Amino acid sequence: MITVEQALQLVEKHARALSPRRVPLDEAAGLVLAEDVASDVDSPPHDKAMMDGYAVASCDRSAVRQVIEEIAAGAVPRQTVGSGQASRIMTGAPLPAGADAVIPVEQTELVEDGRVALRQIDPPAGQNVLPRGASVRAGSVVVHARAGLRPIELAILAEAGCAAPLVHPRPRLAVLATGNELVPVAARPAAGQIRNSNGTLLVAAAAAAGAQAVDLGVARDELQSLREHIGRGMAEDVLVLSGGVSAGKFDLVPQVLEELGTIKVFHQVSLRPGRPLWFGICDSRDRRTLVFGLPGNPVSSFVCFVLFVRPALAALAGRPFTGLPVITARLEHDFDHKGGRAACLPARVTQSATIEPGTPNHTVSILPWQGSADIAALAGANALARLPAERLLLSKGTPLEILLI
Ligand code: AMP
Ligand code: MG
Repeated sequence: MITVEQALQLVEKHARALSPRRVPLDEAAGLVLAEDVASDVDSPPHDKAMMDGYAVASCDRSAVRQVIEEIAAGAVPRQTVGSGQASRIMTGAPLPAGADAVIPVEQTELVEDGRVALRQIDPPAGQNVLPRGASVRAGSVVVHARAGLRPIELAILAEAGCAAPLVHPRPRLAVLATGNELVPVAARPAAGQIRNSNGTLLVAAAAAAGAQAVDLGVARDELQSLREHIGRGMAEDVLVLSGGVSAGKFDLVPQVLEELGTIKVFHQVSLRPGRPLWFGICDSRDRRTLVFGLPGNPVSSFVCFVLFVRPALAALAGRPFTGLPVITARLEHDFDHKGGRAACLPARVTQSATIEPGTPNHTVSILPWQGSADIAALAGANALARLPAERLLLSKGTPLEILLI
């Protein structure tokens, strides 16, 4: 059985960034830019007033000026400001010829005959003026390839005139639950049945990881049902199945996947919970589908999703192959780790009150749980504690690697 690290390397090897394509700017939030974008304009596009006030020549020392024009933002000045003159100007408006400074309106007083008295008569050249191109020069790169597009980058692209950026598209992910015992959430389970909570879990987790998730519902543990449902999943970038990959008599998922052309990369990882994990790739003419067969128990499904599917989604989206944020926290209690497999256990992290220099300022307790079906225990968790495959008697205060969920 391979280790978690070996399994991650194999997933990373097959998770390539999706081919870039252009999308409307208002659909690009959260995506990764695939080319350098240069501005087609200077910003600001003209020498710009930064305050509401009066545009003047800084060398002019007259205390009272004739107001010759009013320049609103969006207007083009027509008059040249000469000696003894000023133009009323609004924030954002272009500076008129002859002027090189703006006296704030608070420093002035209107007097009779359309004249203005200035309390400040010796402004430095450039006062309250942002010169043309000071922020961005036309032709210069404003956002580089590989940048994640937050609202800030989108605004810069908008200013630069990039209406359809070239991006790595949002990965499309299909979720397929398998199992004869499963009924839809809205149904009341009959004897022997349970609701399909993994479908909800995995669709939501995929959306939170930036994917566009589609729910394929439930396939029965029968070859024909599995074939039909899995075939639909192959139209997406990622197919995530839950259940049917363990050693049970009706665990038919690996067999059907391979029959439909998926090449197995690995099956089973030395991990608790999550050992039955199956991973393969299915290449067709126009796409590669990464296929993850997650164990059906909800905690196992969740752990395998965050450890393996999440970083794969990041890589498809053009980001580094990284998963959840990791911190170090001190164990709040002694813990007997049985070992045998690496573990990823529901845990609760707390920010500690006392911060000693050089020690982690978080503490963690590993939560009691009833095994990998106990999704309710996960609800009390805000983290997963990672433990190695060795048997360890951990004492209170031991630093542990923690994934924040
Ligand atoms: P399997 O991996 O198919 O052997 O499933 C293991 C156990 O996980 C099953 O006995 C169910 O209790 C549970 N399980 C499987 N699929 C789901 C699902 N979609 N939602 C909730 N629990 C599930
Ligand atoms: Mg099953």
